[in-house]
Amino acid sequence: MRDMMWAAQLVTIGAGMEMRRVPVPRPGPGELLLKLESSGICHTDLHVRDGAQFPDGAPRPLTLGHEGIGVVVEQGEGARTPPGTRLGAPYLHDTCGDCRACLTGRESYCATHLAHGYNVQGTFAEYVIVKERYAVALPSSLDSLVSAPHMCAGVTAYGGVEKAGLAPGKNAVVIGCGGLGQYGIQLAKLTGANVIAIDTSSEKLEEARRLGADQCLLADKSAADSVVAMGGADAVINFAPSNRIWDMVPGMLNNFSTFVSVAMVAQPVPLVLEWLTFKDVTITGSSVGTRQQMRDFLRLADIHKIAVDIEAVPLAKANDAMNRLARGQVKGRFVVDFSRAP
Ligand SMILES: [Zn+2]
Ligand SMILES: [Zn+2]
Repeated sequence: MRDMMWAAQLVTIGAGMEMRRVPVPRPGPGELLLKLESSGICHTDLHVRDGAQFPDGAPRPLTLGHEGIGVVVEQGEGARTPPGTRLGAPYLHDTCGDCRACLTGRESYCATHLAHGYNVQGTFAEYVIVKERYAVALPSSLDSLVSAPHMCAGVTAYGGVEKAGLAPGKNAVVIGCGGLGQYGIQLAKLTGANVIAIDTSSEKLEEARRLGADQCLLADKSAADSVVAMGGADAVINFAPSNRIWDMVPGMLNNFSTFVSVAMVAQPVPLVLEWLTFKDVTITGSSVGTRQQMRDFLRLADIHKIAVDIEAVPLAKANDAMNRLARGQVKGRFVVDFSRAP
């Protein structure tokens, strides 16, 4: 076992990530050490990297990343997964197991949860520590690069689609056709719904069509009318990180429909309560997913070959990739490929 490894770490807020040589961590009780093969790069990494301060309780320097796939190389006391087993390191590192969220099947909302790349060290490193009970078992057919974004983006989209209450013949509007939305389109199609994809980029809409979207619309003033002409939206799932999407949403929602907020949008939107009273619309949100949702999603991903566009980069280019992500210059998801020289 090596003593030192490469990690892309946030040392100073606002200064981007630095490539650093750091000690390989050792697993404690119930933990496993994974040697990473891949790690997706998520918008949340960007939020943390470019945020105003380190997350509460975060180690400093902080290794970002929470979409890892790796192989067990060392077991902590009491851990039973054999070395050589390939596992996923998802966003959730651990939860309390005892709070209202944990006890009602909503563990991803646990107020004291620990998350990779947020308040415990993440997957932009050659090795990462996972809790055995939160590590994700992977179907053997899943490729490590392709399935890295499944660990957050995939299960997040799954949670959002599940909340939308879709069924065959319903009109599902997916707003935002980047990585998350690409998962959303494929999952919404599997419910039998008619899927209408909306994005500001005609290139992303082309990809949406390739992934099965039935109709594709540019996000402009006429989008709401176009959706109404198609029968209106029975559900709108938002994967676009912008409050401007709300300009078109109320105008397309049917009575008794559902709006699901998945992308993290900090800016407010106007809401007319009278409209809500008369429309009986359900407005809800969805944040990552539980371990059971992860299992359900991975089974679907395996059977239906769910995948999004990926662009592989070496670890040393993760910071540059994040800069491109900030500018919207990615078709799907960036994935760090650890088989390349760091
Ligand atoms: Zn994420
Ligand atoms: Zn809890």
